[in-house]
Formats: sequence, C-alpha cells, structure tokens
Amino acid sequence: MFIESFKVESPNVKYTDNEIHSVYDYQTTELVHESKNGAYQWTVKPKTVKYEFKTDTQVPKLGVMLVGWGGNNGSTLTAGVIANREGISWATKEKVQQANYFGSLTQASSIRVGSFNGEEIYAPFKSLLPMVNPEEIVFGGWDISDMNLADAMGRAKVLDIDLQKQLRPFMEHMVPLPGIYDPDFIAANQGSRANHLIKGTKKEQLDQVIKDIRDFKAKNKVDKVVVLWTANTERYSNVVAGLNDTTENLMSSLDKNEAEISPSTLYAIACVLENIPFINGSPQNTFVPGLIELAIKRNSLIGGDDFKSGQTKMKSVLVDFLVGAGIKPTSIVSYNHLGNNDGMNLSAPQTFRSKEISKSNVVDDMVASNGILFESGEHPDHVVVIKYVPYVGDSKRAMDEYTSEIFMGGKNTIVMHNTCEDSLLAAPIILDLVLLAELTTRIELKSENEGKFHSFHPVATLLSYLSKAPLVPPGTPVVNALSKQRAMLENILRACVGLAPENNMILEYK
Ligand code: NAD
Repeated sequence: MFIESFKVESPNVKYTDNEIHSVYDYQTTELVHESKNGAYQWTVKPKTVKYEFKTDTQVPKLGVMLVGWGGNNGSTLTAGVIANREGISWATKEKVQQANYFGSLTQASSIRVGSFNGEEIYAPFKSLLPMVNPEEIVFGGWDISDMNLADAMGRAKVLDIDLQKQLRPFMEHMVPLPGIYDPDFIAANQGSRANHLIKGTKKEQLDQVIKDIRDFKAKNKVDKVVVLWTANTERYSNVVAGLNDTTENLMSSLDKNEAEISPSTLYAIACVLENIPFINGSPQNTFVPGLIELAIKRNSLIGGDDFKSGQTKMKSVLVDFLVGAGIKPTSIVSYNHLGNNDGMNLSAPQTFRSKEISKSNVVDDMVASNGILFESGEHPDHVVVIKYVPYVGDSKRAMDEYTSEIFMGGKNTIVMHNTCEDSLLAAPIILDLVLLAELTTRIELKSENEGKFHSFHPVATLLSYLSKAPLVPPGTPVVNALSKQRAMLENILRACVGLAPENNMILEYK
C-alpha cells in the first residue's frame, strides 16, 4: 500500500514550528587489531553512539543556476520542470503523455515505512523531510552560447515536438548569462558555439560570476541559490605544487592570471566565496586541492563528480551483484556511442580522458570488498570506449560485456545493450542533486562526543548515489555500490526523523 505522508511519534523526536529534533542511537562497530599470545587477531566490538539531528523545516525559495544552462541537460531539465508545473500533456504516436518526474529519486521513488495488517506500507521518498518543490525553483545560469532556452530545447532535439511547441512561450524569454570560455579546456569543436563570453582576466571573470549570483538572487527574491556545472566536460587541469595545491597558492595564482585555472574551478571558487553550494556534473577535476581546502575552511558545500546516469549506474549495480554473489568479474568492457554536443566534445582526446578516468574507478570498492575472489591489488580488466556518431543524437548507445569466473573454472558472459536519451536520464538527477544539496544545508548533527551541532562535512558524500566518481573528504572511503549509496542517503534522512535504518529483517513475520 502507498501512503502520501506520515509523522513520527516517539520520545526521541520533537517537531516544533520550524525544526525537527531527533535523538538517534547509531549502532556501529569498533575494530581492534592486536597481538595476543604472539599472533595478531581482529576483535569486533559492537558499540552505540548517541547522535542528535536538527532539521530546519522552513523550506526556502530556491534559485538554481546551471553552468551550461543552454545545453541538452540544462534545457531538458528546465523544460521538464515547466511541463510538470503547467500540467502539460502532449500527443505521441502511442498515447497522450503526461509530464512526470520518472528517474528522480526524490520525486519518483519510495521508501518503506513499515508493515500494517500484513501489508508493506510505502511512502514517497520526498515525504521523509520537507524539501523544495521543484515547481517552485527559479532557474537561471550561464552559457557560452547566447541561444534562448526555447531555441536551445530545439537544438537539443530531445523532447517531442508537440511538447516543445507548448513550452516555447515559457522559455523564449529565458536567456543564459554570458559564460567563462577557455578554449584550452574544452574541445576545439566547441569554438563555433562560443559567442557569449565573460571577458577579462581570471580574477575579473570570477568577480563577474559573483556579481551574477548576487544579482540573480536579488532579482528573483530567492532565499538560497545552488549552482551546478552541466557544461561541457573539460580536460583535467594539472595539479602542481605552488599553483593550485593549497588555497593560498590557488588564490595567488588567480591574481597572477595563471592559465591552468579552469573555467569550472573559477565558477566553483566564486560559489565557495559566496557560500553557495556548487555541484560538478562533469568528470573533470574542478575540485583541485586548493579549492577543496577553501570549501572546508569556509564550510561551503561542494559535491560531484559527473552524473551517474546510465552505464555507470548499471555497472555499480551489476558488479555489486556479481561480487556479492561470490562471482568473480574478470573483464568489463564498455562501448558508448552518442551524437549530441557532449559526444562531439568528448571526441577530443583530452576531454575523453576525463570521462575515462571518472568511469574507470567505479568498481574498486566492490572488488576490494571480497578477498576470496580478488587478491590484494588485483582488478578486473576494465576498458571504456566512447565514439561520436552524430546520427544517433542524444539517444546514447551503451554496450557492455561482463565476463566472470564462476564455479569450477566456468565462465559467464553477460552482454547488455542500453539505448536511451542521455538528457532524459541526466535531468532528473540534476534535480535530485540540487534538492538534496539544499536539504542537507538545513540539517545539523552532533554525536555524544561533540559539544556543538555542526553541519555535514562540506564535501557532500550524501550525494554519492547521483555521482559517477563521488567526491569525498580526504581520507574517507569511496562507496560506489548503488544500493549502499541509496541506503546511506535514505537511512541518514530516516535518522533525522528518528526512524531506524531500513534493515530488511522483517522479524515481525519470522
Ligand atoms: P551540452 O554540450 O549539450 O551542454 C553543455 C553546455 O555548456 C553547452 O550549451 C555549452 O555551450 C555550455 N558551456 C560549455 N562551456 C561552458 C562554460 N565554461 N560556461 C558556461 N557554459 C558552457 O552537454 P550535455 O549533454 O547537456 O551534458 C553536459 C555535461 O554533463 C557534459 O559534461 C556531460 O559529460 C555531463 N554528463 C552528462 C550525462 C548525461 O547522461 N547526459 C551524464 C554524465 C555527465
């Protein structure tokens, strides 16, 4: 059965006019590795740590500024949210289609609340904690192309034409702000698009972005802004001692107009300085060490990298399943071809390399979790190929072959072919990223060992479910397995309303 909402009644949870306060027993383990009688042994001691969570329930008016607003993802997301807001339906050759949020964790997935009269009860994911309603978001942003959003939607060739016609009047007046363009960082084939640029030195460009954010906030009377990079994939920037390895060096490089500071890093610095959450939806290393240090110092949320939309999402499910089943994946080969502007940009070796890196580490944690199948340091062969094929447009093809070793030396090969509009997968993920980033800035926590409430660590690991290469604070384990990432997010939100983690034991019926 499905219910729309619920309220938790517990001595551990207090709802006030503007806050939910929960006291929570975090059950974890303490590991001890010590020598006993001359041999090392592991001891596991279960322990319980008391935590308190405070969630501000006042939902702000939210502005979302997209870098690359006029791209396929930016225009598709904007169009999709307007279509939902306006209740637009359109004729396809199969049926009359209604706008929806399919593919969005927050808007279209559910959580289990409990059992009632022998039936499992589910509720919308978004009913866990008060979140911004997507239809109330004010969208804006930057693009190096001056095309308005209605024309950009046409250029993207993603949405049905009948829908586009209905959306045009809502989108024609939406024009991105000029963007920071540096041809050294994206493919040369993007040059013809770049007609709408912020001029000046790197410092002047940064100042302009800061001004843009302030103006946007004031003009639209929004309480909060989240900025998300959905612009072209850049090449990696070189991380060099003295250049961008510390905040001090990064800021002094900025003053010196150093060529190696990428546009995405400039937007991100601007956001951190303004205390605006910044999320990177592309694979490049926007978050150079000096920038991560700055975000930590200023406690300003940063998250990324690279949307986990299609092939990688499957990979982080399938390899988790294989390794979890005691099957040894030995070779993973992924081919993609796509014909949209992202594909054209990725056809340059430097930008492809960024994508290759972000796609390649996604099975590491699953492999490392099973020392029966894999020796220390052993990895499956893992190859990623991406080709630009203009004809298929945004309809990306992903072909994967997984070869595994099974019982008694047998081999098992799984082949998958996935065809899908890339931007229709990415747009709901962008929505989730900005909604969850906003929500997490309203939550504070403290453990029994801490005197004061504090926010989550500014490097937002809670967004890992949505990221291909999750950015984590230095020294923190990276989790790629999709089910673990979802459970982490859901269970932390449950903790905020005093609910136990979903343990799937269903002891009531055992
Ligand atoms: P796109 O090429 O259609 O859109 C990118 C937009 O960014 C373009 O309009 C371009 O003019 C603009 N742009 C480029 N550099 C800019 C800058 N410095 N400042 C402002 N604007 C700039 O690409 P897309 O299909 O929308 O994808 C966007 C990004 O998302 C790509 O990097 C892609 O790799 C990444 N991504 C997409 C998916 C997916 O499923 N669609 C998944 C993971 C990651």
